[in-house]
Amino acid sequence: MTPDRPADHLAILTAILEERTLAYAVTDGRLRVEQLCDPADLFCLPAGRGLGQPLLEIAPELIGHEAALDELLAGRLDRLQIQLFSRSAEDGATRYYRLLARPRPAALNGSTAAAGSETAAHAPQPATPRTSGIILFLEDITFIGEIQQRLMQSHNELLLQADALNWANRELAAANQELRKLADIRSTFVSMAAHELRTPLAVMRGYAEMLLDETQGALNDAQRESLETLRNGSDRLLEIVNNLLDLTRLEASRMELVLHALDLGDLARAVAREFRPLLEAKQQSLAVAVASDLPAALCDEARVFQILSNLLSNASKYTPAGGRIELSVGLADTADELLVVVRDTGVGIPADQQDQLGALFFRARTANQMDARGVGLGLYITRSLVQLHGGRLWFESQEGQGSTFAVTFLQADGSGY
Ligand code: ADP
Repeated sequence: MTPDRPADHLAILTAILEERTLAYAVTDGRLRVEQLCDPADLFCLPAGRGLGQPLLEIAPELIGHEAALDELLAGRLDRLQIQLFSRSAEDGATRYYRLLARPRPAALNGSTAAAGSETAAHAPQPATPRTSGIILFLEDITFIGEIQQRLMQSHNELLLQADALNWANRELAAANQELRKLADIRSTFVSMAAHELRTPLAVMRGYAEMLLDETQGALNDAQRESLETLRNGSDRLLEIVNNLLDLTRLEASRMELVLHALDLGDLARAVAREFRPLLEAKQQSLAVAVASDLPAALCDEARVFQILSNLLSNASKYTPAGGRIELSVGLADTADELLVVVRDTGVGIPADQQDQLGALFFRARTANQMDARGVGLGLYITRSLVQLHGGRLWFESQEGQGSTFAVTFLQADGSGY
């Protein structure tokens, strides 16, 4: 059913305006308010005020827009909109509004022309016959305004955080650069010191060896013992110095391999030969097993010698006198790899420390208990060298039972060597 009485229309319209928090004012051609409908009190006018008042008094936000108002009155402009502005309500809360001004069709006040012909304060041009004033709509959009405010605030906070992040990044980059510089200095220092130490050490060792050969005269037992201590000490120092040099090379990615297709079995036998006297002195047995018809491995001879020596040396070092050591070379389970395994019956590695093994300078409890000398560099370098060859290193160990270290090397087949 549609209401047919004008009073009904008005009541419905007022209810809609209130529901949507909308108000409107209609002016004459001189911009004086003629009609006002403000069910939600958006204009915030004292009771009885508004009618007959200039438009700019009830909507001061229009001050500064007088030229546009004149254009509206003249019928040359269709709408004037102020998207978002705020007012402080009496309770101090901020409310947000949207305002729309449109020309008032002449038919609305029943007159056709003259309204505009009287000189309006801000309407020097007479209104066209179809425009007899202005209709102003005011809408309370506080919920949108608040969301926009919050968005704006979040946006600004994000900008601030981005700015802080940028600063932090820049500081981090500077700190990184500083760290790199320090690492370079340390590396250069270690490398220079190691180089400087190596030559005199080698000379000392050479003289000790020469005297032990008795080419310069026979030695008594005490002299021989002293010279052996001197030679062994020089050997240990040389090993540490060489490891430090390798470490600086690895850190600076300056370790270069000279790869060839090599017989890994031959290499393993050669390392074993070199170690035999040492193992015999500790009454340790060494069994070497090389599978037959093995393909060649792609490796750097000197570096593989170093890898296997390190594994054998550790096996001997961490195995008490009388223990057994096995060195075997064969095919790995994976298609294109060879496998070298060094097994011992030594002190093993405690289960709770196994995940740290191979970290720089790490030594397990069992090593310290055994009073075996070392600095925790060898395994780190060994693993790095194996990885440089494209291989892997892993181990299994049980405290008090022994350890098994395994490394793989790539087969040379198909690699062009
Ligand atoms: P170093 O022998 O100089 O201490 P490494 O880097 O060669 O240094 O070895 C690191 C640690 O790994 C050793 O201190 C020892 O605790 C442990 N380790 C290595 N090989 C063995 C092994 N065969 N048996 C028991 N522990 C081992």
